[in-house]
Amino acid sequence: MIIAIDGPAGAGKSTVAKLVGSELGLDLLDTGAMYRVFALAASRAGISENDQSRINSLLQETSIGFSESQPRRAILNGTDVADEIRSLEISQLASQLSAISEVRRAMVKAQQQIIATGDWVLEGRDVTTVVAPNADLKIFLTASIEERARRRWVEMIDRGESVRLQAVVKEVVERDHRDYTRDDSPLMLAEDAVIIETFDVSPAQVAGKVVALARR
Ligand code: C5P
Repeated sequence: MIIAIDGPAGAGKSTVAKLVGSELGLDLLDTGAMYRVFALAASRAGISENDQSRINSLLQETSIGFSESQPRRAILNGTDVADEIRSLEISQLASQLSAISEVRRAMVKAQQQIIATGDWVLEGRDVTTVVAPNADLKIFLTASIEERARRRWVEMIDRGESVRLQAVVKEVVERDHRDYTRDDSPLMLAEDAVIIETFDVSPAQVAGKVVALARR
């Protein structure tokens, strides 16, 4: 079984996907983490989003994966980077780099190889439309921009980062704009996706709805 969940930043995709995965015994693929790992590699190499030829070389040289152990942690060239990829700087760079077709092609290919065997719940921005268009169940999660930014901010504060809510709102607005308007596979609502509004509903309740739909 393949369940694909798309939606904008902070809509609750990761938490819901985790709960659905553990309830239904599906492995979890966080596609955004792969764009973030690539952004971290670019940041470390001092490569900007405008440097197409160095980006292409970096794509060839970079190994992006996940730990075998659960919960899966993001790995860059053999090293765990799961915590480092969550900063605001890497969020922004991931969003900029994800507009580049070569980057998308490489990530989508790797993601399709990962889900080719086994049962998966995957989440991202193009998983219902490009990565797994034949998924058994497609979900689009959404909430207001204020609510999504507030969730991201709470996550960062919980991790001990000192960041202002307003900075997170600005970052989410910018990322939304880029994700919805890029030419190559923008964030889109698939015709056969079920829309779930996550404002004022707990992740467990949202996951319950997804599980019920999957069982049906
Ligand atoms: O989901 P997450 O916020 O970790 O994703 C980071 C960035 O990667 C997003 O802002 C988006 O631009 C990009 N992304 C994407 N396609 C995906 C997943 C993430 O373009 N399937």
